[in-house]
Formats: sequence, structure tokens, C-alpha cells
Amino acid sequence: MDKTSSFSSHEGKPIRCKAAICRKAGEALVIEEIHVYPPQAYEVRIKIICTTLCHTDLAFSKYNSGPVVRFPRILGHEAVGVVESIGEHVDGFKQGDVVLPVFHPHCEECRDCKSSKGNWCTRFTEDIVSNTRRYGMASRFKDSMGEDIHHFFFVSSFSEYTVVDIAHLVKISPEIPVDRAVLLSCGVSTGIGAAWKTADIEEGSTVAVFGLGAVGLAVGEGARLRGAAQIIGIDINPDKFALGKEFGFTDFVNPTLCGDKKISEVIKKIAGGGVDYSFECVGITSVLSEAFISTRTGTGKTVALGINPAAPTELHSFDLFRGKHVCGSLFGGLKPKLDIPVLVDRYLKKELNLDSFITHELKFEDINKAFDLLEKGKSLRCILWMDKK
Ligand code: NAD
Ligand code: ZN
Repeated sequence: MDKTSSFSSHEGKPIRCKAAICRKAGEALVIEEIHVYPPQAYEVRIKIICTTLCHTDLAFSKYNSGPVVRFPRILGHEAVGVVESIGEHVDGFKQGDVVLPVFHPHCEECRDCKSSKGNWCTRFTEDIVSNTRRYGMASRFKDSMGEDIHHFFFVSSFSEYTVVDIAHLVKISPEIPVDRAVLLSCGVSTGIGAAWKTADIEEGSTVAVFGLGAVGLAVGEGARLRGAAQIIGIDINPDKFALGKEFGFTDFVNPTLCGDKKISEVIKKIAGGGVDYSFECVGITSVLSEAFISTRTGTGKTVALGINPAAPTELHSFDLFRGKHVCGSLFGGLKPKLDIPVLVDRYLKKELNLDSFITHELKFEDINKAFDLLEKGKSLRCILWMDKK
């Protein structure tokens, strides 16, 4: 099929399409007709094929104050799309390319992007408040009254079309099915990356993962592929344990059944003194403290992945002196343009288990049902198809 033919007529003009708008904190999203303006220099307009929702979308649909909170807004940041048109100075993308938008930037030119360490982009990562990467609060979305709608983390995939800066776009092989590729746009890449890059787990290690959503289960998948000897899953929802087995988890702990014992005591007992690596994939600071205490004295490493924008965390300084490490990780320490194609390749070689992350599929219009499923802990990832009727 020629993927470009149906797009060309809109080039340089606004496109009228449907989007799910979050108008007020805590309220259901509303499907509305919007205008998506053409891409400017260094930007690409993409047609979203499918999108999923991550806990971060759920959290930002509810926060009603703070520097990064604003309404009305088009949420969504896990998606796969096809390039519809490109702005000036866009190299490496053309109409019809299959692409993943990624909330984490990769300019490829700054000191940190050129370094082999970490995945910070000095040029762009500091700014998480703007609508568009190079144009501040300028928005490419207007509602039917002509009012601007805010972007979300430079992606806004809960729309049939969106405009994304090239620093946030990765071209991928069209060989990977789109409903598997979509998972690599945020949560699953974050979990696998945290195991491989941020923690750099070795064969035979012991690992504890707090929170078995898509992010936590993907940490387990990354640990399994590195040959971890013991992977302990901790979740208050025991329905997640059967899923955990599919990703190589060896032991499970339900904190609600631990009585007076602290969860860290239970983990230390299971892992013979403490785990080599622990991961917080919930976004609760008290869970992060427990994850930190659960690690081995001398060498233990804790990786914070759960997002909680407002809360300070208490860590005992004596533990830090005794050689325990803690660090946070955005997008699992992956450099999107370099590392996503590697994950795609490993899926195509049948090494990565992506299939078990997809628990539900719905048409885009039913997006509020997908929010409900995630909030109630019933789904990992629910694929929302844009064109499915
Ligand atoms: P999810 O809602 O699918 O999973 C969260 C899991 O945590 C659920 O299974 C829930 O039952 C469990 N949980 C809740 N309270 C718990 C507790 N007290 N102890 C143990 N488990 C508990 O979410 P997700 O999409 O997997 O995202 C997980 C976190 O990662 C969120 O905070 C999200 O914002 C964050 N995130 C971070 C990055 C990053 O780059 N750092 C990227 C994506 C997501
Ligand atoms: Zn950079």
C-alpha cells in the first residue's frame, strides 16, 4: 500500500481531525474536532496509527496544580505513527515513514547526546514546560472555537494527527507490527533500559521490582535477558503475579499480606541479605525508601522510575556511606534514536517478549474505558486504534 498517497493533499494546511481533550483535572476526556497546524522548521506532522496509555497520562489527567500542569491539553505519549508532512530543515524523515514519537529528547548534537554516558540531552531535557521544543508556548493545536490546546511532553498522541519535533522522533523498521512497536515508545523501553543501561544488571544478580505495571514487568524482562538469578516482584495487586511469571519473575511479595514486617525485611530474607538491584516503578516515595533499604550493603543499587513530581524522599545517610547507590532514570537511560532500533531488532529476532504486555484493545473513541482499566489495575497496556470503527 502506498502510505503517502492519501496525505499529500493537506501538506502546508491545517488538518481537521478528532482528538481526546483533557479539559479539567480529574474529568473524563472529551472527543472533539480540532485543527492540527502544519509542522514548522525541524517539526514533522504525523498520523497516529495507534496509541496506548501509560500511568503518566493517568497521573497528569488528575494533577490540578504545579509548574507542568495545564488545561485544556492533549495527553498521550506512547504511540506509533506515519509521517504525513515535514517542515523545513527536516533531514532523515519523509512522508510514509513509520515513526515512534518519544517524550525524551535526543538532539544528537549536544555534549551529552554525543557522550556514551547516560541519556541526558543538555540542549533540550531541562525544558518540560513548553508546548513545542523550539517555539516555547506556541501550540500546533486549536479547538473548534479557535483556542489553543496545550501539548503534552512534546508528543500528544491522543489525536489523529500531531506535530512532533525531530528531536523526539525515531524512524523504525516497518517490519515490526505497529501494535508491538507502540510499546517501545515509552513504558516498555523505560523498564528494559533501566535494567540494561541504568543498572547494567549482570548474570546471576538478585533483583527486586516494586510495582508490576508495564514499566516494572519490563524491568523483569530486561533482568531475565541479562541472566538474573532471582527476580522478586512486589505489588499490592496479586493479579499481577501470574503476568510476572511470563516475564521471568521468580518470587512474589504482596505488601498487604506482610503483617507487621517491613517489606524490605521480607525482601532481605528472600534474597539472603539484600538484592543487588531494586527498582521503584510505582511513584510513591515511601516505596522508594523501602526499595533502597532492600538492597545489599556495600554495592546495592536502587533505580527510581516511578514519577511523583512533588515529593521529597528520605534516604538514610548511613546507608549511603555504606556504599549503597540510588539514581533516577528517565526513559531507562536509553538514547531514543540509537537504542529503540536495537530493541526493535531484538523483538524481530524473537528475543524480547512484547506480546504479553498487551492486555486490551479498543477503538480510540473508547479512550475513557482505557483510563478506567489502567486505574483499576486491570490492564497493562491497552492499544487504542485510531481507524478502527
Ligand atoms: P501501572 O499503573 O501500570 O503500574 C503500577 C503498579 O504499581 C500497579 O501494578 C500497582 O498495583 C502497583 N502498586 C501501587 N501501589 C503499590 C505499592 N504501594 N507497592 C507495590 N506496588 C504498588 O503504571 P506504569 O505505566 O507501569 O508506570 C509506573 C510508574 O512509572 C508511574 O509512576 C509512571 O509515571 C512511571 N514512568 C516513568 C518513566 C520514566 O522515564 N522514569 C516512564 C514511564 C512511566
Ligand atoms: Zn542533546
